[in-house]
Amino acid sequence: MSTSCLIEVSALLLYIRFIRGEPTKHIPLINSTVATRREQTTGSWEVIQRTLNGSQFYTFSVCNVGEREQDNWLRTTFIQRRPSASRVFVELQFIVRDCNSFDGASLTCKETFNLFTSESDADVGTTFRKGQFKKVATIAPDEITSKNELRINTETKVVENLSRKGFYLAFQDIGACIALLSVRVYYKTCPATVKSLASFPETVAGGENQALREVSGVCVENAISEELPRIYCTVDGEWVVPVGQCQCKPGYEEVEDECQECKAGSFKAEASGDKCTPCPANTQELDSGAVVCPCMDGFYRAPNDPPTGPCSGLPSAPRDLVATTSAGKLLLTWSPPEDTGGRTDITYSIECQRCEGMVCQSCGEKIRYEPAGVGLTDTKVSVSELDAHLNYTFTVEAHSGVTIFSFQRYPPKITAMRVMERSSTSLSLFWDVKPRVHPRPIRYELTYRKKVRHSRFFYPDKYGFCIFLFRKRNSHTRQGPEDTYFSSSEQLKPLKTYVDPHTYEDPNTAVLKFATEIHPSHITKQKVIGAGEFGEVYRGILKVPGRKEVAVAIKTLKPGYTEKQRQDFLSEASIMGQFSHQNIIRLEGVVTKFKHAMIVTEYMENGALDRYLRDHDGEFASFQLVGMLRGIAAGMKYLSDMSYVHRDLAARNILVNNTLECKVSDFGLSRVLEDDPEGTYTTSGGKIPIRWTAPEAIAYRKFTSASDVWSFGIVMWEVMAFGERPYWDMSNHEVMKAINEAFRLPAPMDCPSAVYQLMLQCWLQDRSKRPRFGDIVSLLDKLLRSPDSLKTIADFDPRISIRLPSTSGSDGSPFRSVSEWLESIKMSQYSENFACAGVVTMDQVLQMKNEDIKNIGVRLPGHLKRIAYSILGLKDQTSTLSVFAV
Ligand code: AMP
Repeated sequence: MSTSCLIEVSALLLYIRFIRGEPTKHIPLINSTVATRREQTTGSWEVIQRTLNGSQFYTFSVCNVGEREQDNWLRTTFIQRRPSASRVFVELQFIVRDCNSFDGASLTCKETFNLFTSESDADVGTTFRKGQFKKVATIAPDEITSKNELRINTETKVVENLSRKGFYLAFQDIGACIALLSVRVYYKTCPATVKSLASFPETVAGGENQALREVSGVCVENAISEELPRIYCTVDGEWVVPVGQCQCKPGYEEVEDECQECKAGSFKAEASGDKCTPCPANTQELDSGAVVCPCMDGFYRAPNDPPTGPCSGLPSAPRDLVATTSAGKLLLTWSPPEDTGGRTDITYSIECQRCEGMVCQSCGEKIRYEPAGVGLTDTKVSVSELDAHLNYTFTVEAHSGVTIFSFQRYPPKITAMRVMERSSTSLSLFWDVKPRVHPRPIRYELTYRKKVRHSRFFYPDKYGFCIFLFRKRNSHTRQGPEDTYFSSSEQLKPLKTYVDPHTYEDPNTAVLKFATEIHPSHITKQKVIGAGEFGEVYRGILKVPGRKEVAVAIKTLKPGYTEKQRQDFLSEASIMGQFSHQNIIRLEGVVTKFKHAMIVTEYMENGALDRYLRDHDGEFASFQLVGMLRGIAAGMKYLSDMSYVHRDLAARNILVNNTLECKVSDFGLSRVLEDDPEGTYTTSGGKIPIRWTAPEAIAYRKFTSASDVWSFGIVMWEVMAFGERPYWDMSNHEVMKAINEAFRLPAPMDCPSAVYQLMLQCWLQDRSKRPRFGDIVSLLDKLLRSPDSLKTIADFDPRISIRLPSTSGSDGSPFRSVSEWLESIKMSQYSENFACAGVVTMDQVLQMKNEDIKNIGVRLPGHLKRIAYSILGLKDQTSTLSVFAV
């Protein structure tokens, strides 16, 4: 508490002049005014000098104890009031003489006096009207002063509910012998303070009509709070009940009511009351104010590792591999890697090569591993169904949570390449690799293609694909190594433009130009995996003599085809054969010279992206989804650089392999017209997949790379929503109407804000303003390089963004069972968890809290949210479908 004085009238105010006996004329004094009654002639308040404990001081005194009907007044000057101070305290110091000490005066003598107040908006000067004063209190002494002994009393009275600009105090004597030593008038305040990192201003304490005054605070610099911090000021000037808490921003910690930057080498990831913590193992120590410590080169965080945790290295190779045979089986055993990279999730995989003479190839599925060939946690495996006549080479690789992550996404960079020697028939090439901290050998593959003026070299290691360009200035002049020009893939300019197979008079010529003819005897069909427009699609094996056996997809042309259909079918190969990019499905070759035409492409183990994501709903972190989008964008950049417009970019036309690489597919000339079930006839003619297609392409068939960018935005949405159908069950007509009215799809659940912003950019009406695929790749790369950038999540409305059913089924009745409800939100896999936990009615479901959902075994954050949001939706039956305006 603190007090603020309005006036202090003390005995030390020596300037007070006091004029007695002038009944109506009041002389203004510096701090007090004395009033006497006209009819009073026998004495009134006067200033008397006294000596107390050796000090001299002045008092206002009155002592008419022998007279009747005393009514002597002493009034202060005008006391201005601070507007918020409605309650003031009046502290008096005074002396009262014992009536018994006056001989014969006891009948008229009093031992009390009265305190009065009068409010006013202006200083009325010396005018004094008794009737305007209200009594505050009778002042009685605790101790009275006898003849011999002086007793000073101190009494404090409260004047409440003041509302005008100022007031006067007055003291009424009714026949006592009093000396007023001092008057102190003050109000109470809660002092300016900082509590819970919020600063609160000095606040005048309230009165009896407002015992607690609520005050809002402001977070101190570099602190934030979700809720406005508040606190209450009591009538006694005490702060009580602080509500809400400010917390230091990420990168700052609390030090004595301030937020100070984390010191260099420490970090704080979130706004919290925690202190900064030292950067964990294998991370870079940044300057002060770090919110995260990025991994050191060569160290990584697995997607499920917390961004605040340590980074781990890649495991070194397993040791002491030993092969023994028993009971016709081969038993491989080994010791764990010396360096696990600091991780405990080490698994092993086996790779097998079988060699006949000098020719080696992958063992493929011809041998059996027990318990498995991948994902082994034990350091042994048994191998059977080996061929006694062949030599086998087994390689055991150690993996951990960071292995796939680092290798897949960031293959080591090939930074400089040199030609060291050359002859008319040979070249010696050297290159540098960064970073060098790879625990196991990197493999390089060199491909050479003859070109008239250019040669291209491809150096894909097992996990990546770096392209280097080697250009001869003049193939006829002699050159030294310094004449050779290399550039990294980043600097590569497109070497060629896509050639429309229609420009060839005979489409068969185009196929032969762009695709390799395969003999059907080299193809083994194994299993039907899909149905294409022209016939079945098979998984199979391609075994060309002298080349490694590879898994392939084989598209077939069903019997009874027309020549036109055959040409359309093969046109896809003519187009695909012109492309060579990591994220474009690779054409192995075609069969055209036999009755059953076939197109053979690389095999993508996980099939179409939309279905794959639907089957793995909620199982990937944003980081992984953005990684997939990055791959698709890179493929599209390549296509747009070659001036190829895809026209049917959609998640269903992206294929996924077993390392989650995404590749653009579906290049048939007739595909949009005939093949795609999403194709719908438009008024401008032609079939168009409406919900993936840019408005200008729908309206007047303006298909460009910019319209592909629009479709890419829809693919982004499909990916971030785990294969949800864009615009759900809205009709094509409704979709077109909504788009024309500037509505756009809302952010999917848990979608990083930066990713959603990019989608919105792709859906700009003005196609010239949309980003280009090059921009998209750069932005996605940037996001992947700083995982923090994915932490801010776009606003999300569960009622709009996941098609949560209302409480009613289609027939208007509530869900009949928990499993029916779970099925409707595609979460049937948890039916048993609910049943085991005894949650068997929808009423029980509605009572569930997030914690309960977790406790019954729903662990994946995506699933947890879907179920929680659905319960929320069930409670709120007003859910409607709409889309966001931009
Ligand atoms: P498409 O005629 O290209 O649309 O292929 C039909 C279906 O066959 C696709 O949806 C995939 O499920 C499957 N498919 C096509 N090509 C491949 C491939 N290269 N690898 C794996 N599956 C494929």
